[in-house]
This record gives sequence, C-alpha cells and structure tokens, in this order.
Amino acid sequence: MTNSTRISAANLSISQRLAAASLALLLGISLLWGAGFAAQAHDAAHDTRHAIGFPCH
Ligand SMILES: [Zn+2]
Repeated sequence: MTNSTRISAANLSISQRLAAASLALLLGISLLWGAGFAAQAHDAAHDTRHAIGFPCH
C-alpha cells in the first residue's frame, strides 16, 4: 500500500501554493475594485440621468 500517488494540497510545492494564494488574492481584489468602480459609475450615470430629466425611477 502506498500513498505516494495521492494528490492533495499538501503535495504542492511552496511556489505553487504562493502562486495559488496570489491568484486568489488578485481575484478578490479585482472583484472588490470592480464592484466599487461599477457602483461609482452607476451613481454618476444616475445623477446625469436625473440632471437631464431622463425618466429613471
Ligand atoms: Zn434615478
């Protein structure tokens, strides 16, 4: 019986773990930044719509 072929996170090298962690971190940051940017863009467009009297809500 051998466990050498078992694949798990414990078998990843340090660099592979760092790469995965960095990727996850970047993804999280980009999601947060994207959501914040979308909210600001939406608010700006919303204000403009009201300023020109465009029916909105
Ligand atoms: Zn509105």
